[in-house]
Amino acid sequence: MLLSKLTHRILGAAFLSLVFAIPAAHAQKTQTPPKYPGYYRAIVGNLTVIALNDGYTQLGAQLFRGTNTSDIQDLLTNAYLPAQSAINTSVNAYLVQMGRNLVLVDAGAADCFGPTLGNLPANMRMAGYSPDAVTMVLITHLHGDHACGLVNAQGQMAFPKATLWVPKDEVQYWLSRDNSSDTSKHAAAKMAHAALGPYIAAKKLKTFASGETILPGLNSVPSPGHTPGHTGYLFTSGNHSIYIWGDIIHSQAIQLARPEVSIDFDTDPQQAITTRVEALPEVARRRLLIGGAHLPFPGLGHVRAISAQNGAYQWVPIEYDQTAPGKTDGVAD
Ligand SMILES: [Zn+2]
Repeated sequence: MLLSKLTHRILGAAFLSLVFAIPAAHAQKTQTPPKYPGYYRAIVGNLTVIALNDGYTQLGAQLFRGTNTSDIQDLLTNAYLPAQSAINTSVNAYLVQMGRNLVLVDAGAADCFGPTLGNLPANMRMAGYSPDAVTMVLITHLHGDHACGLVNAQGQMAFPKATLWVPKDEVQYWLSRDNSSDTSKHAAAKMAHAALGPYIAAKKLKTFASGETILPGLNSVPSPGHTPGHTGYLFTSGNHSIYIWGDIIHSQAIQLARPEVSIDFDTDPQQAITTRVEALPEVARRRLLIGGAHLPFPGLGHVRAISAQNGAYQWVPIEYDQTAPGKTDGVAD
């Protein structure tokens, strides 16, 4: 099992003090669909995988720890990106048609981080799928950009027919945190409480020990550090796999070249680094297809070791596949 050697520990750590560079404006999201098609279909064995773009946020360069400004500028330039202090960062989720199960991995930010995010439901519909058709939602971790979208603007389950699967350690960590005020110290806990609430009330929350098999061909993979219960999901069909890895990487330009660079909102930065340093050589060696929540949309591709630099990696996005079937099995509204 991928990364099974990792010890899954709950580690005391800092609160999520700074979330994203964009303040949590809680702006009312308009209902107009995005101006671009933020979905991409890939075929993985018998699985249909739809990458769904929720939008983007900007990560301040100062959030990256363990390097300096000029190194970050060099790394961005090396990746042919603008060397600016606000780094545009995609927020992606993945919908996987797996036999009769329609599985969503992560749910987007809804209106938790302002108007550049919250496009997942519109993009899901543009891809031909209704939120009502989702049978399972798996959450990599309970930060707001992955979990706020579990709930709609009316405070109800955004995926009313789905069972919500969240790693037990992640639920315990966030539900035990104080969410009693609106200070930034409590903002992340408030988001997690709000995201889980309707599913708990409806008895639709299912917790599991990270590392468990969820379904035949769908395994959870512990990857702690970014949060205590942070978990990826490995889908396998025949000889084909996709590893939807959550927040192992927040900036491919920076953290693949420098896996030892953490980000301010890692709960336990050292554990997050260990997880990343152990995961990268394995996914490179196994040539695993990756789905990354913060890799450039559609966030699908592979990780390659840079042979000339020990411990450094490079993102290799998939090529646009013009042969993937155009018809979906989804149920459109
Ligand atoms: Zn994230």
